[in-house]
Amino acid sequence: MLRTDVAIIGGGVSGLTAAIEASKAGATVHLIDEGARPGGQLFKQIHKFFGSRRHYAGIRGFEIGERLLQDARKNGVEVVPNAFVFGMFGNGIGIIEAEGRGRWLEAKQVILCCGASEKGILFPGWTLPGVMGAGAAQTLINVHRVLPGKRFLIVGSGNVGLVVAYQILQAGADVVAVVEALPRIGGWGVHASKLLRCGVPILTSHTIKGALGRGKVEGATIEALDEKYRRVPGSERRLEVNVICLAVGLKPNIELPLMAGCETMFLGGLGGRVPLHDENMETTQAGIYVAGDCAGVEEASTAMESGRLAGAAAAESLGYLSKDEACDLKTEIREVLDDLRGGPFGVERRKAKTLLNQRTRAFRKPNNGGSE
Ligand SMILES: Cc1cc2nc3c(=O)[nH]c(=O)nc-3n(C[C@H](O)[C@H](O)[C@H](O)COP(=O)(O)OP(=O)(O)OC[C@H]3O[C@@H](n4cnc5c(N)ncnc54)[C@H](O)[C@@H]3O)c2cc1C
Repeated sequence: MLRTDVAIIGGGVSGLTAAIEASKAGATVHLIDEGARPGGQLFKQIHKFFGSRRHYAGIRGFEIGERLLQDARKNGVEVVPNAFVFGMFGNGIGIIEAEGRGRWLEAKQVILCCGASEKGILFPGWTLPGVMGAGAAQTLINVHRVLPGKRFLIVGSGNVGLVVAYQILQAGADVVAVVEALPRIGGWGVHASKLLRCGVPILTSHTIKGALGRGKVEGATIEALDEKYRRVPGSERRLEVNVICLAVGLKPNIELPLMAGCETMFLGGLGGRVPLHDENMETTQAGIYVAGDCAGVEEASTAMESGRLAGAAAAESLGYLSKDEACDLKTEIREVLDDLRGGPFGVERRKAKTLLNQRTRAFRKPNNGGSE
């Protein structure tokens, strides 16, 4: 059995920053990730990130992941790749490693940074091979170097849909159209402009009606929507495509928080059911924290800072930071977070902040110290 001060599940951007912050304070930290190399979503991102320099603006996602990983190792974090966490039993963690070997890890504090999963929508033919999440297509193309088709339809014009559409073009395939049910493009103008310049139509007030084909996708029907999202009769069009990518949102991965007994609530603006957590990212189970998309879907910079906050809070509760040191550090991180959430993309988080804090305190349960 392994023992550690702080166990972090998920080595995406939030897990890496949580690990760095806790180990910098002096805690022993184990970072567990199911991937061959940690980095989470970042290792699929070949585009340069936006935002502030402090959050690696202008650097490609996979390079950000590499830097954070090196930083974590330099600070003494024990990185455990190829390790899938199948169960949480208080602060005890069940792990399956390569070749099916089981391991048990017991931690004084646990930070869950399990990321998010792609949402789906239902339409006739949605189970046909060739219908997939946009993130799944991105993994196939950028990580495994496999182009899953030649002609793509993208459903959803948020940043994920737009970024993946452009990367499909870069990989040498065609994007026949992006359809968007809203009357406006959901993602950033800069991503949309790149596609429009390449001649890809972004059809707002349009949706997919069905996938066509026998045994695999051989086409798709799209149709227009009116201002009340009702189908416009006679507007159907057939598109010749062999892959349909769904980019219709992400939802937090809350299986492990649920297994650990953390209370949750539904917050549609943060992707769905979210583990309750307070201003330290601590859940209703004392000693168990969440960070990043797992705590509510936002973006990479906020994931980084929420990870740091959880790492600092975990180190403080183990006595590695004094009250004053922790207070200064957490105040600095919270100010950065407030700043990041100051714009239109932070509205949902701002609205949920007080409610999350109140409910977390109301449902807080003591730490059972890890049961076997
Ligand atoms: C296509 C796309 C484009 C994006 N572009 C941008 C952008 O330009 N700018 C931006 O700011 N953000 C962007 N993002 C969002 C950003 O990548 C995410 O918000 C951020 O990576 C979330 O980090 P995270 O640590 O919460 O989760 P993730 O990066 O998803 O990491 C979670 C990790 O946990 C691991 N894990 C989960 N469950 C287990 C388990 N049971 N056992 C072991 N390991 C587990 C996973 O394997 C994964 O490595 C983009 C996202 C996508 C999908």
